[in-house]
Amino acid sequence: MAEPQRIVIIGSGLAGASTAGALRERGYDGAVVVFGRERHQPYELPALSKDVLVGNAEWPNRVHEPGFYETHGVELRLGVEVTEVRVGERVIVDSGGATHSYDRLVLATGSVPRRLPVPGGDLPGLRVLRTVEDSLALRERLAPGVRVVVVGAGWIGCEVAAAARVRGAEVTVVDPVDLPLRRVLGPVVGEVFRNLHAERGVAWRLGVGVDGFLPNGVRLADGSVVEGDVVVVGVGARPSLELAEKAGLALAEGGVAVDPALRTSVPEVCAVGDIAAHDHPRYGRRVRVEHWANAKDQGAHVAGTLLGRGDPYVAAPYFFSDQYDLGMEYRGLADAEKDQLVVRGSLAARDFTAFWVRDGRLRAAMNVNQWDDGVALQALVDSQAAVSPDQLRSSSLSDLV
Ligand SMILES: Cc1cc2nc3c(=O)[nH]c(=O)nc-3n(C[C@H](O)[C@H](O)[C@H](O)COP(=O)(O)OP(=O)(O)OC[C@H]3O[C@@H](n4cnc5c(N)ncnc54)[C@H](O)[C@@H]3O)c2cc1C
Repeated sequence: MAEPQRIVIIGSGLAGASTAGALRERGYDGAVVVFGRERHQPYELPALSKDVLVGNAEWPNRVHEPGFYETHGVELRLGVEVTEVRVGERVIVDSGGATHSYDRLVLATGSVPRRLPVPGGDLPGLRVLRTVEDSLALRERLAPGVRVVVVGAGWIGCEVAAAARVRGAEVTVVDPVDLPLRRVLGPVVGEVFRNLHAERGVAWRLGVGVDGFLPNGVRLADGSVVEGDVVVVGVGARPSLELAEKAGLALAEGGVAVDPALRTSVPEVCAVGDIAAHDHPRYGRRVRVEHWANAKDQGAHVAGTLLGRGDPYVAAPYFFSDQYDLGMEYRGLADAEKDQLVVRGSLAARDFTAFWVRDGRLRAAMNVNQWDDGVALQALVDSQAAVSPDQLRSSSLSDLV
């Protein structure tokens, strides 16, 4: 294919903005246009449930410095919703009905918060957390004496609970699963997070789901009611696939199917970030990742694909979380219910590294309040090394790589 003259990106989140920046870093000098529904310059989401929500930061990190887009000739079309992609004509349509042509297109439409399909699930007072407006408005309500009910004990739910407690609110977290974060981390590490929050005064209502939302709280499946002044729903995200579906792009595993180099079923259209169901060479299957590093790194990688390279994207998933004084990083992809857990360090002191091993190979590692081994852990996970539990518990990690 000839060098494209005009690359259009739909979505001004981390994946879309990283794509635009990487195109310029690679020396591409054609037109780069980013369409985004939000009116703000691209910003990163993690602080919305951490420093911004706690009140330690006024605004989340921007993907690029102010002025970057002007000086690099990236056209930002902010506050503009794209309503249709016509792959046959190579044009997109915006909500005003105007059409815009492209040679290559990148879909980076991200996700929106999931809602629970129960009575009252669309009550206007329910809060979700996806945009800077959501975070700033919720922060205003988090104060001593305010009763906050958090629905969902995943990452967002746990981080919201932590921020709300730090700001002095009374917090109850509800989840049908018996431990927080159990699906990702398994029961042993899930217990660490349950204890952490309990020690900070969070009331858990675990093992019982929400049956309905009320103007003053939530009703649980066992008939009880948890009253609250503020109800936050943190039950996961739904990838925004409407444009891809309407355009007839192949979908898979709840996302837009992309090949190892991040191309969709229409080769001049790529997809990155939360929506990309990536045919991952490392795992030999499709992997869709809703994490910061994936959005950033796939954005950087797809710039090469758009310019004619076909290198596969091979990075292992990576994510992080901060709750009170606990900080953690997770690298790799494990099945916490099935893989063998090996712990190095102290769970009780919340100072440890957890490893997940399958068939004698390391699948994933998570360091909690330990910051010296990041490089070695990354190399170890990348190498998918053959390791024994004893080695992981006692050897120097750099010796294992
Ligand atoms: C509160 C919060 C905290 C998080 N914390 C962490 C963390 O600690 N660690 C971690 O690894 N990950 C974290 N994540 C996840 C991570 O931030 C996301 O995976 C990442 O931002 C995804 O980037 P994206 O660009 O694919 O999508 P998004 O950030 O969702 O960006 C997509 C953009 O596209 C726009 N858009 C969608 N459709 C259209 C359309 N039709 N027309 C125009 N614009 C459109 C949207 O408005 C949005 O701005 C967090 C997420 C949230 C919400």
